[in-house]
Amino acid sequence: MSTLMNTYNRLPVEFTHGDGVWLYDTAGDAWLDALSGIAVCGLGHAHPALTKAISEQAARLIHTSNIYHIGTQRELADKLIAASGMDCVFFSNSGAEANEAAIKLARMHGHNKGIDLPTIIVFESSFHGRTLATLSATGNRKVQAGFGPLVTGFARAPFADLEAVKTIAKNNQNIVAVLVEPIQGEGGVHIPDPSFLDGLRELCNQHDWLLMLDEVQTGNGRTGKYFAYQHHSWLPDVVTTAKGLANGVPIGACLAAGKATALFGPGNHGSTFGGNPLACAAGIATVDTLVNGKYAEKAATMGAYLQQQFREKLADQALVKEVRGLGLLLGIELTQECSILVQKALEKKLLINVTSGNVIRLLPPLIIQQAEADLLVDGVCQLINAFAQDTTAEPA
Ligand code: PLP
Repeated sequence: MSTLMNTYNRLPVEFTHGDGVWLYDTAGDAWLDALSGIAVCGLGHAHPALTKAISEQAARLIHTSNIYHIGTQRELADKLIAASGMDCVFFSNSGAEANEAAIKLARMHGHNKGIDLPTIIVFESSFHGRTLATLSATGNRKVQAGFGPLVTGFARAPFADLEAVKTIAKNNQNIVAVLVEPIQGEGGVHIPDPSFLDGLRELCNQHDWLLMLDEVQTGNGRTGKYFAYQHHSWLPDVVTTAKGLANGVPIGACLAAGKATALFGPGNHGSTFGGNPLACAAGIATVDTLVNGKYAEKAATMGAYLQQQFREKLADQALVKEVRGLGLLLGIELTQECSILVQKALEKKLLINVTSGNVIRLLPPLIIQQAEADLLVDGVCQLINAFAQDTTAEPA
């Protein structure tokens, strides 16, 4: 019996080191990584700027406590503020924890207005994390099953349905905020029409709700801007991020702007590790490299190239329902369940993901070059074509 708690069905491969978009297994074989540790390693593996920053900081100071000043934390906050246009930052250790901070901000906002049972609008097919509050906010019954009673204070609407949100607004006087992913990642790479987020911004302004964007997956250059809301012309009140923020060193952030900045005071929130010197040094090196290397812009160009290649090469493949994405958050939706493709890809030493049952999700490092992108296109198209030949399954 394994000494690890049984929380993952792990794939039969183990990696010992990496270099750029490549991972190397215990036998020394190279694998093309089109998942980046699930949208984490935007700068790929063993990036020299990261290695240098982490090892120098580790040699100097790893941890003190948030009861003292931390220079690297202030520096990372300044860089995130410059990249985002937001006003202030709380550092956590993960995406779920960043969302917990956002949920607490929303509740505090409600209580300050005299709302005793503050309620946050969330969406079907969303994913916000595995802590009790964030799994309660998540729009996926599988994530919640077995963990009731769920945290209350969430009202759910179908994703990208502004009218449904307006109906909730009419019927529920306890709404204080909306928590939404600008693009649903785990839910199947769903990209709403821009008018949905624009409309949410307007509704939040009208009702004095906080617009809280979960950019844990979409942030840090992934969609072609530093944050996905920067494809629009407004700021959210709260934005959370994690994953790509320190390229694999655990850190999360909850950023606030305007009226959301003054909601917490000392004692309202905290974390032992959150924003410690080591994590922040990694964050500084990551944000600097992403911004100075224009990797968001590169993600936009490479993402458009990949989409065009997939569309062209899969044009006659009846199994493909849609190719979609923004930047390097890409989805290829098939007409049927295709989770088996993750295993099939292992035979090609290719790391991909299938989410929502029938959506091949690709999240390659933002540093991917065209030759590597071409290898990815060839590998994925071969997988889909072979699957089409093999398959006898019914349409999803
Ligand atoms: N929010 C979104 C949109 C995510 O995609 C994820 C993770 O996949 C999370 C939150 C949870 O982040 P973490 O696993 O770092 O807690």
